[in-house]
Amino acid sequence: MKLVLKFGGTSISSPSNIRHVASLIKSISKEHKIIPVFSAISGVTDELIRITNLIQNRNKEGANSLAKKIIKMHVDISTQCAKNPKIRKDLANKMKTDLDELEDLLHGMLLLGEVTPKSSDYLISFGERLSINLVAYALNDMGIKAVPLTGKDVGIVTDSNFGEAKPLMDTTRLHVSHIIENLLQKKTMPVIGGFAGADQHGNITTFGRGGSDYTATIVASSIKAEEVWLMSDVEGLMTTDPKIVKNAKLIKEVSYVEAMEMALFGAKYIHPRALEPLVAKKIPLRIRNTFNMKNPGTRVTATPQIDTQKTVKCVSTIRHTGLIDVRGGSMVGAPGTAATIFSVLAKAGVNIMMISQSPSESSISVIVKKNDLDKAVNTLEMNLLGKIIKKVDVTLDVSIIALIGSGMRGIVGVASKVFTAVAKRGVNVIMIAQGSSELNLAFVVRDSDCNAAVQALHDEFELAKT
Ligand code: ASP
Ligand code: MG
Repeated sequence: MKLVLKFGGTSISSPSNIRHVASLIKSISKEHKIIPVFSAISGVTDELIRITNLIQNRNKEGANSLAKKIIKMHVDISTQCAKNPKIRKDLANKMKTDLDELEDLLHGMLLLGEVTPKSSDYLISFGERLSINLVAYALNDMGIKAVPLTGKDVGIVTDSNFGEAKPLMDTTRLHVSHIIENLLQKKTMPVIGGFAGADQHGNITTFGRGGSDYTATIVASSIKAEEVWLMSDVEGLMTTDPKIVKNAKLIKEVSYVEAMEMALFGAKYIHPRALEPLVAKKIPLRIRNTFNMKNPGTRVTATPQIDTQKTVKCVSTIRHTGLIDVRGGSMVGAPGTAATIFSVLAKAGVNIMMISQSPSESSISVIVKKNDLDKAVNTLEMNLLGKIIKKVDVTLDVSIIALIGSGMRGIVGVASKVFTAVAKRGVNVIMIAQGSSELNLAFVVRDSDCNAAVQALHDEFELAKT
């Protein structure tokens, strides 16, 4: 099989992890053609983003010292990736070339004291650019011919929407398949840096956080791979948070749409667009643990075979959010009220996680992240209080609980089962939302009630039974 394996940052966070991953790739490549894709070493992208903030705040010392720290860490690791002195020296040279460019870029950005979306993408793409060198040379050291290739090198062409770029798939497919096939013919493994590509002018672009997943699926679709494996430090998707429910179980199989819902709910973060390139070609995806290959993980396919009879597949939570309820008689029957409220929040940069409006139209409730709560309330009060809204009520510390499963669609009695189970534990439900896709039934409770509700639902739908 032709397999695209994407490794997350924790899989390569130390020299021993890098060697572990390299030998894992080596052993799998005895049976399959492996095209590996890598994230930055864990924490590096966060630090690179912090550097852009420091530059913007004209904190030259701060930016320089954080850059030094990142450089030193990579250099230290690079000295321990290969045993062969010649390979070690080649790696040192390659690292020096890339790190010199990083320093030049930083110097330029500091001189200007300015961070543009374009320069920011250039800078934050370095996490992957450096990590692939380490792995490629570690593979060389184990006797596997491998070359590091950034997203740009491998031919991923995107639009110029820096920070949230989208691939131009037709061009990308052409370039990527050509470049990779060429290398494979020469028995050389391309070691691909995730997260970034380049626009048609050659400027480096990035896909947004977690974008290496997206790189993996773009590459897989371009070369018609048989499967994509997302390798990280979790076993796969779980029926619920094992910290809340001791006997939470691994989910063996889900559909693309179910995986999308679960990913957004943070069970295992997957880039929101990462499944798109797979759907058309029906390429299956697996979520697996780098450090426990005995476990086959969770398989994501168009048509799951296992567990399909289950109405609900998992109970997810988003903890510690805030609820804002806005009320006012003049909201009733006034077109544009919701639009006004949401655009005021959007202008303040507040992301809305859940919405519900009563049919009387006199109240709209929204859930936002706890960190956004003050900002959201302030901006609503400043812009709209006394105009279209009369009152803004806030409930601190609530949690969203979501049941996910395409088996809920068209099934009578799911909601009644859910709310009866929750009521039996004496938990009060504050707000409810279900999209008409019926893939996801979500409701809000006080955070202190969250664990009891999750346990009740996990029991009620017998999710521990496989
Ligand atoms: N390094 C990038 C990030 O941390 C991309 C990725 O890890 O998938 O967001
Ligand atoms: Mg990451």
